[in-house]
Amino acid sequence: APEPKRILVTGAAGQIGYAICPMIARGAMLGPDQPVILHMLDIEPAKQALEGVRMELVDAAYPLLMGVVASTDAEEACKGVDVAVMVGGFPRKAGMERKDVMSKNVAIYKAQASALEKNAAPGCKVLVVANPANTNSLILKEHAPSIPAENITCLTRLDHNRALGQLSERSGVHVGKVKNVIIWGNHSSTQYPDVNHATIDGKPAREVIGDDAYLDGDFISTVQQRGAAIIKARGLSSALSAASSACDHIRDWVLGTPEGTWVSMGVYSDGSYGAPKGVVYSFPVTCKAGTWSIVQGLSIDEPSAAKMKATGDELVEEKALAMECLGE
Ligand code: NDP
Repeated sequence: APEPKRILVTGAAGQIGYAICPMIARGAMLGPDQPVILHMLDIEPAKQALEGVRMELVDAAYPLLMGVVASTDAEEACKGVDVAVMVGGFPRKAGMERKDVMSKNVAIYKAQASALEKNAAPGCKVLVVANPANTNSLILKEHAPSIPAENITCLTRLDHNRALGQLSERSGVHVGKVKNVIIWGNHSSTQYPDVNHATIDGKPAREVIGDDAYLDGDFISTVQQRGAAIIKARGLSSALSAASSACDHIRDWVLGTPEGTWVSMGVYSDGSYGAPKGVVYSFPVTCKAGTWSIVQGLSIDEPSAAKMKATGDELVEEKALAMECLGE
């Protein structure tokens, strides 16, 4: 069997942590033949709960799970990790906007950047889930200069998968035959879920759905507001779908996207499609041999360009606010 890979999950005692650790231990992230060692990090007040999760992982007797490190010390938890899934963050309480939690979170991501930089294995791939995910990952990148920018990403795959799910429900075609939606920009309510290049069973999604008013209206708002709808229904935020899409994100990044399929990832912007440079922006990407590349040459109509600009503008604003919070 191959050498085990070390996977860090921060905020591991939280909701998403509780959902993602068993998925990783079952091979949903790195495949069914890749042994793993889980590194779980949480803060001191969550220490006991974290120990409970560790006990349950032992009790589950996973064949692929070669070890568990449970720690409240970031330096220890980051030692030798090959993949880092950053879920830990200050929660957005009722009525709080993303921006209110910004100052708490950028401070956390600045500190964790240096723990990762000093301790992670060379080539470590980082996925930030905690909100504001794009800006947290940008702060992490800025404060971990020895980690290549292309190794630091944020999660928009859940939004991507939500868009696939909506098209599947609307068309009655299984989600496995729905492809190539795009989430542009920020993982926030300004994100733009774009169906203009999507296909359903190989045919253009607009043709199959046959209802542009829906696709340009309710479809977009449903995807943008899905998180709030889950909180309303469950009384808790989405955790299993967030965990599952984080596994999808790392799996496709490491093992490659299927031929003819792209996925959405928040990556350090090179200015493609007029997106602002110097922010982490969600683009359509394909992955091969552990490297992502932005899909080029897609035609963008006027209304799409306007939405892509609006979400980019928000990211530039968030970046300025984050810098202000950090006094930089
Ligand atoms: P969750 O596990 O539900 O969520 C964790 C983070 O993921 C939040 O920032 C949340 O943002 C974000 N997130 C991104 N996408 C989604 C999505 N689709 N659905 C839900 N959340 C999403 O939070 P818990 O409070 O259960 O767990 C957080 C853990 O982090 C706790 O164990 C806590 O102890 C730990 N923590 C760690 C800190 C640190 O590392 N220094 C600091 C503070 C807490 P949003 O709030 O916008 O939903």
